[in-house]
Amino acid sequence: MLREPLIDGHGRRIADVRVSVTDRCNFRCQYCMPAEGLPWLNRDALLSYEEIERLVRLLSAMGVHDVRLTGGEPLVRRELWRLVEKLSALEDVHDLSLTTNGYLLERQVGDLVRAGLRRVNVSLDALAPDRFFQLTRRDSLKQVLEGLAAAQQHPELMLGVDGVHRGHDRAELPDAELRNHPLGACGQHERDAVASPYAKGREGDGRGVAQLVQSAP
Ligand code: SF4
Repeated sequence: MLREPLIDGHGRRIADVRVSVTDRCNFRCQYCMPAEGLPWLNRDALLSYEEIERLVRLLSAMGVHDVRLTGGEPLVRRELWRLVEKLSALEDVHDLSLTTNGYLLERQVGDLVRAGLRRVNVSLDALAPDRFFQLTRRDSLKQVLEGLAAAQQHPELMLGVDGVHRGHDRAELPDAELRNHPLGACGQHERDAVASPYAKGREGDGRGVAQLVQSAP
């Protein structure tokens, strides 16, 4: 049933939402959270997958057609593919995407694609392992690149790489058209389309992602 459209405070129709499925993360990016983590929410404080589906169904009837799953790190929530399966089946959701740090992507991408996911954005802030460690406080660049390579094995998946880049980090991404980001609290900094040459699918042909994976030290 079509409902009244969702309107923001400036009178504009709201067509996209971000759904944070968890506040937890397996990284500790310097610009996002302290090394010891945060006081996490209790599990029972989070919406269940069934509740998120109900909410998104309602929003989609109000004109919200683009849904992005975020966190924290969304892939740390158990069996995220079950939520993807529910949301990808909603007729009025036209663009369902996932933003991830990529660490758990290699082991989950197959299930996510089978569940109907067609777009993934991987946040990658540096290609040099020491710089990556400095930024994320995790020695995990290899796993992120393996996640990207695994995602590339799914031609139906639109794949993008973006990040928060400052100073010399920008030089590490060849051919990328990078711009500085306004940094803010976790979840507030905008990462979209930062390194658009690496996009695959609707935005590009994916060669940029292959180049990125191969060029990493
Ligand atoms: S920026 Fe993203 S990957 Fe880094 S700690 Fe925050 S939620 Fe995790």
